[in-house]
Amino acid sequence: MSYASIDISHTYTAPLGNESRYLLEDESPLTVEEARLALHSKGIAPHQGVLNFGINSKPVWLYFTIENPSAELMTRFIRVEASWLDQVDIYFFSNDRLINAQSGGDKYPFDQRQVDDRFIIFPHDFDVGQTEVLMRLSSPDPLNIPIYLLSLDEMHQKTLNDGYFYGAIYGFLLALLAYNILLSFSLKSRRYLYYSQYLFFFILMNLSYTGHGYQWLWPEQVTWQLWLNPILMLAYATTGLMFATRFLDTQKKLKRLHYIIGFTCWSLILLGALFILLGDNVRLLYLAFFAIIPFASLMITSGVVGMFNGIKEARYFAAATIFVTVGAVYTTLTVSGVIEYSNLGFHALEIAMLIEAVLFALALSYQFKIIQDGKITAERLADIDPLTGLYNRRGLYKILTPLLNVSLRKKRALSLLLLDIDYFKQINDLYGHTQGDKALRQLSKLLLNEARNGDLIGRWGGEEFILLLSETSEAEAQVLAQRIVDKVSELSLAVADKEVNITVSIGVSCLETPTQTFDDLLDQADKALYQAKSKGRNRVVLAQAN
Ligand code: GH3
Ligand code: MG
Ligand code: MG
Repeated sequence: MSYASIDISHTYTAPLGNESRYLLEDESPLTVEEARLALHSKGIAPHQGVLNFGINSKPVWLYFTIENPSAELMTRFIRVEASWLDQVDIYFFSNDRLINAQSGGDKYPFDQRQVDDRFIIFPHDFDVGQTEVLMRLSSPDPLNIPIYLLSLDEMHQKTLNDGYFYGAIYGFLLALLAYNILLSFSLKSRRYLYYSQYLFFFILMNLSYTGHGYQWLWPEQVTWQLWLNPILMLAYATTGLMFATRFLDTQKKLKRLHYIIGFTCWSLILLGALFILLGDNVRLLYLAFFAIIPFASLMITSGVVGMFNGIKEARYFAAATIFVTVGAVYTTLTVSGVIEYSNLGFHALEIAMLIEAVLFALALSYQFKIIQDGKITAERLADIDPLTGLYNRRGLYKILTPLLNVSLRKKRALSLLLLDIDYFKQINDLYGHTQGDKALRQLSKLLLNEARNGDLIGRWGGEEFILLLSETSEAEAQVLAQRIVDKVSELSLAVADKEVNITVSIGVSCLETPTQTFDDLLDQADKALYQAKSKGRNRVVLAQAN
C-alpha cells in the first residue's frame, strides 16, 4: 500500500492528497459499498497534496483512513477548501460499518450547512482505532480537492487568519470603490465610472468564487450559486477591457485595438448569454476560463501599444495590467488544475488586484493632474492680454479689489493713471494694423520699465492702459505720469522700417475718501484724460485740479 493511515493525534497542516487514494466514477453512479470495494482493490495514489481534475470531470471517489491512537473519541473537522463544488458526500466507516454520512456543497442552500463557513466542513467524532473515510465529489466546475483535517482550534485559527486576510482585501477594495464612484460623479468622468465597474465586478467575482457571497449575500439562492462564478468571471474580463478602452481613449487614439476589444467583449457576452439560455453550465465554464486568454493578451497589448503611441499614463496602465494578468493567469491555471495547486497560486489574483488598484489610482490621479494643470494654465491665460502680455480687464479686476481694500484699510494713498495713445488710428491707417500692434507692444515695454515693482499695469482696451500705483500720492503719480509722457514722445518706434513718434495723454486720479470705489476712481481719471485730449494731447491732467 502506497499510502499511510492518518494519525489524528498529529497536526496535519498539509492537504490530504498524499494520504489518499482515488477513483473516477464511470457512466453509472456507484453505491458506497461498490466504491469502497473498488477503492480497496484499484484505488490510485495521486502523489499530490491537492488533487485536481479540471473542468467537467467525472465524479471522483476519494478514500483515506484515520487512526485514533488515544483511548477516547476525538472530534475532527474535514474541510474541503474549494468553495464552488456542487456536491460532496462523505461516509465514515468504523469496523466495516457505516456510522456517519453527510452531504454538502453548492447544491444545498447555505443555511443547511452544519458549520457556518464558506468552505464545506464535515465534523466527525472519531472512534478509537481506525476509521475509513470515503468521499464522493462531483461538479462541472474545476474539480479541485484541497482537503484538510483540522481540530477545532486549528479550524478557528484558520478562520481567523482568513478573516484578517479578506478583511484587509475587501476593506481596501471597497474603500477604493467608494472613492472612485464619488470621483466619477463629482468629476463627471466616465473613466472613474468604468474603473469602479471593473472593481465592483472583481469584488463580486471574488466574493463568489471564495464562497463569501454564498455565506453572506445569497445563502438561499442555490441556482445563483451554481451559475454565478462563470458569469462574474466574464463580467470581470469584459469590464476590465472596457476600462482599458476608456482609460487609453482607444476610440480616438488606437482605433484598431478599439475594434478588436469591442469585438472580443461582444463575443464573450453573446456566447455567454447563449450558453445561459441553453442551460449549458459546462460550456459557460469553459468560456469563462478561456476568456482569461483574450483578457490577458488584450490588457497587456493595450498598455504596451498605448506606451508606444506616446500615451504617458499608459506606463502605469502597462505596469498594472502586467501584475494583474500574471495574477489572473496564475490563479486560473491553479484553479482549473493545469498547474499544481498552491496557496500563492490561489491568492495570486487577489494580491495582484491590490497592486493594480494602487497603480491605477496613481494613473488616474496622474491624469487628473494633467487636466488640472491644463485648467490652471487656461485660467491664467484668460487673465492675460495675448498681444502685450499685460493683464487684461478680467485680470485687472481680479487683482485690483484686494489692492484697493488694503489701501483703504491702511489709509494709504493709491493713484490711478489712465493712458490713451494720441491719434492712434492714424498709425493703423498709415502703416497697417500689424505695425499698430508692434507699437502697442513697444509702449507696453516702456510702461513696464517705468513702473515700480508693486504697481499694477494692464491693458484696459484698444490703445488704453491703466496703471494702479499703491502708496503713491497724486503729486507722485503726476511725476511718474509726466515722465511717461516725456519718454513716449522721445521714443522712436520702429514701425515699418521707419522711425515713427507717438504721444500719449494721461488722466490721473487719487483715492480720497473711504467710500470711493474703483469705478469712481476710473471715472475721475477718464474725465481728466478727456481734458488732456481736449487741451491738445501729449500731456497729464490731474482729476483733483478740476
Ligand atoms: P485719440 O487721440 O482721440 O485717442 O485718437 P485715436 O485715433 O487714438 O482714438 P480712437 O479711439 O478713435 O481710435 C483708437 C484706435 O486704436 C482705433 C483702433 O483701430 C485702434 N486699435 C484699438 N485696438 C487695437 C489693436 O489691438 N491693435 C491695433 N493695431 N490697433 C488698435
Ligand atoms: Mg487714442
Ligand atoms: Mg481710445
